[in-house]
Amino acid sequence: MGRVSWERFEDEVGRRGGASFWWRDDDAALPSPALERLMSFDLPLALAVVPQAAVPELFHLLKDSVSVLQHGTDHRNRAAPGEKKTEFPAAEPDELALERLVAASQRLRKMAGERALPVLVPPWNRIRPPLAEKLGSIGMTGLSCDGKARAVQGVKQVNTHIDIVAWREGKRFIGEEQALSAALELMEVTDPVGWLTHHAVHDEAAWRFLERLARVEGVRWRGAAELFSYTAPGHG
Ligand SMILES: [Zn+2]
Repeated sequence: MGRVSWERFEDEVGRRGGASFWWRDDDAALPSPALERLMSFDLPLALAVVPQAAVPELFHLLKDSVSVLQHGTDHRNRAAPGEKKTEFPAAEPDELALERLVAASQRLRKMAGERALPVLVPPWNRIRPPLAEKLGSIGMTGLSCDGKARAVQGVKQVNTHIDIVAWREGKRFIGEEQALSAALELMEVTDPVGWLTHHAVHDEAAWRFLERLARVEGVRWRGAAELFSYTAPGHG
C-alpha cells in the first residue's frame, strides 16, 4: 500500500460512507498528568482499570463518556518458566482464578459504580479458553483481548486490533503511516475496528495522532456499553 496521508484516510472513510471504531485504553490505576490528558478527549472510551491497584481518586477524574472495564485483578505476571506473560497461568486452578476475579470485581464496582461493565480485559490480552468459558458463571459477560476474536461460549467478545505503541522500540508511537494503513485494511473486514492505547507511556507523537484521529469526520466512535450488550440498539 502506498503512502497513507490523513487526506487519503479521510477520503477513504468518506468513500465508504463512514467508519466504525472503538477505543480501549489499558493500565489505569492512579491519577496522573497522562490520565488527565486522556480525559481531554470527547470520545466514548473504555478504560481498562487494574482493580487491586486502583485508588478512588482515579474515578473522580473520569468523564461521563468513560466506561470502566476490569483489567485482570492485580496485573501481576504469574507465568511459569517458559510460559508467556499471564495473570492466569495454566497451573492455577480455575476456581482460584475465578475467586480472585470476583474479589477484584467487587472492589472495582465499589469504586467505579455504574460505569463498571462486567467485561474482563486480561493483562497481556491472555486468558486460557477453559477459564474464559467460565467467566459467565461469575457474572462476567464480556471479554476483550487483542486481534481476531475466537468464540467463547456465554461471553460477548469485542477485541482491539491496532496497538499504537511500539513496545520493543522504546515504547514510541508506531507511526501515522502504520496506524492509518492498518485501519484501512481492517475496515474492510472488521466492524468495529478497535484502537488500543496505554496513556501512561504515550510519547507526544502518540497523543498528537489520537488528537488528529478524533477529528476525522464520518467516524462513529462506539461506546463499550453498547458493544458489550447482547441487545443491539434498534432491535427489540
Ligand atoms: Zn495491561
